[in-house]
Amino acid sequence: ASGSEVRVYVRTRPTAAFAQDLIEYLPDKETVNIHQRRVSRKGIVNNQLSSWSFHLDGVLHDVSQEEVYECVARSVVLGALEGYNGTVMCFGQTGAGKTYTMTGATESYRQRGIIPRALQEVFREIELRADYSFSVRLSYLEIYNETLVDLLSSVKGVQGPQGGNMAVIEEAGRGIWVKGLSLHPIHNEEEALNLLFEGEMNRIIGAHALNKHSSRSHCIFTIHIESRSCTQSDAKYVTSKLNLVDLAGSERLSKTGSEGQGQKEAMYINKSLSFLEQAILALADRRREHVPFRQSKLTHALKDSLGGNCNTVLVANIYGEAAQIEETLSTLRFASRMKCVRTVPSINEHDDP
Ligand code: ADP
Repeated sequence: ASGSEVRVYVRTRPTAAFAQDLIEYLPDKETVNIHQRRVSRKGIVNNQLSSWSFHLDGVLHDVSQEEVYECVARSVVLGALEGYNGTVMCFGQTGAGKTYTMTGATESYRQRGIIPRALQEVFREIELRADYSFSVRLSYLEIYNETLVDLLSSVKGVQGPQGGNMAVIEEAGRGIWVKGLSLHPIHNEEEALNLLFEGEMNRIIGAHALNKHSSRSHCIFTIHIESRSCTQSDAKYVTSKLNLVDLAGSERLSKTGSEGQGQKEAMYINKSLSFLEQAILALADRRREHVPFRQSKLTHALKDSLGGNCNTVLVANIYGEAAQIEETLSTLRFASRMKCVRTVPSINEHDDP
């Protein structure tokens, strides 16, 4: 199978202090050069620059939420309606704009992010496809310190067991799924947005209760779609999963300077993100047969979304300021590794039992 490459974009958080001498976006809108002042062993900053060049699928600089959706997510959402799994992930240091990109600004409809726009498009498209009957369900999973949390378990009419023994399960024919995670049938955009809102509230409340920072967890919002033809009687149906992933802040442990609980969290994040990196390195190296997906809950849950049967897109969120250039560089390194990963998307067609 030929497959396709993971698409990778970089998005800068708007700033009045954009370090244009250090972050250079080329006119092709696909290349970013990073220049960093060299620091001598004695800690003296000299005027020599070290430079790195990254070639990605697109630079999102000074662009609206709508343009980001169109460029990054739209084709993945349309693919999901045809039966292709899809994943859109945001990666980067805390504060760089991951949640803004994924969920958007809650107080402003115009500034809504990829998730609400994807939900809108799903229902708009379903309206247009009268020859098919669709069923849509939502789930919202948080992974915090290697613990799985159902962000929609508080919602009434929940299916399946709640809390307690959640686990990532791998099953022939069904792929990866999370045991104990509630799935919520929805019929229109409004119902979907209410669930998203409830999940966001639970994310914040949970963060307060455990005295944790919400940027310390990974969140996976999934739209599960099933469709069958109303006109053909060949008794086949098509399913897909669309994962919209807001990863934990990628900043290094040494920088957080935290103690106790904070340090433990930072350790888990560093671990799960470095396991993610290891999995991506193994996937990018096509000679490698073993990809270590089971090392962490995150990589296990995303197993078929990273290098498998999936259209995958990564947004690398960065600050534009000089003070963050170190983290920006490491975010772009991650992004360019991700770009080497190939996926093999195919329609998930099933026979009726
Ligand atoms: P992260 O999820 O990476 O920690 P956030 O998405 O919470 O970062 O962004 C931090 C702050 O910056 C928020 O107040 C957010 O609204 C703002 N912000 C981030 N990106 C943008 C953007 N592209 N345009 C406007 N505001 C943004």
